[in-house]
Amino acid sequence: MRNKIKYFIRSKLLPNSIFLINEKRESKSLYLTFDDGPVQGVTEGLLELLEQYQVKATFFIIGSRISKSPNLLKKIHEQKHTIANHSYSHPNFTKLSSEAMLEQIFATNELIKETTQQNCRLFRAPQGRWSIRLMFELFRLKMTAVHWSRDSVDFLKEQPEKIVKRFIDNPVRNGDIILFHDDNSRCIDALKILIPHWQSQGFSLNALECK
Ligand SMILES: [Zn+2]
Repeated sequence: MRNKIKYFIRSKLLPNSIFLINEKRESKSLYLTFDDGPVQGVTEGLLELLEQYQVKATFFIIGSRISKSPNLLKKIHEQKHTIANHSYSHPNFTKLSSEAMLEQIFATNELIKETTQQNCRLFRAPQGRWSIRLMFELFRLKMTAVHWSRDSVDFLKEQPEKIVKRFIDNPVRNGDIILFHDDNSRCIDALKILIPHWQSQGFSLNALECK
């Protein structure tokens, strides 16, 4: 709760180009984000589901996972999703020196650029642990820190039905950035129900722009 308030205040003080917690509330758009992939055996199935419903999303990848599945990164890019940076090895950034932070960010930016031919502008800290120092480094790199406004809490490893129920009981709002993880198939089972549910309410599901 304390963190929620902290991030809310930060999102009100800082422009979206520096700290993004939700997109514009005026348009009926939602932004699915997937952290910690790509993971073979999960991300393929997720991409199929997104394709089936013509949904675009944003993948915050862990750089070290690419060597195990370089083709998955290509596939994500070919299907026109946004690829964004979630560090190289998912350390706790509050415990890293500035140099170590930059190494983590650069290594994954490079991998992303090899696939997309574009500079990656979006970063999400592992476990959403932001510090002033990290924010400063991102500012210098002209990168946006991307948090989320809705957490699926899928890391609790509950049944997908519970994830769905939370979203039904507490509905999403325009512009919500929604956190899932594509390191296990729970996200697929939950989104099989949630995507058509949201689309039937008139939401379009879009990728964050990597400008
Ligand atoms: Zn993560």
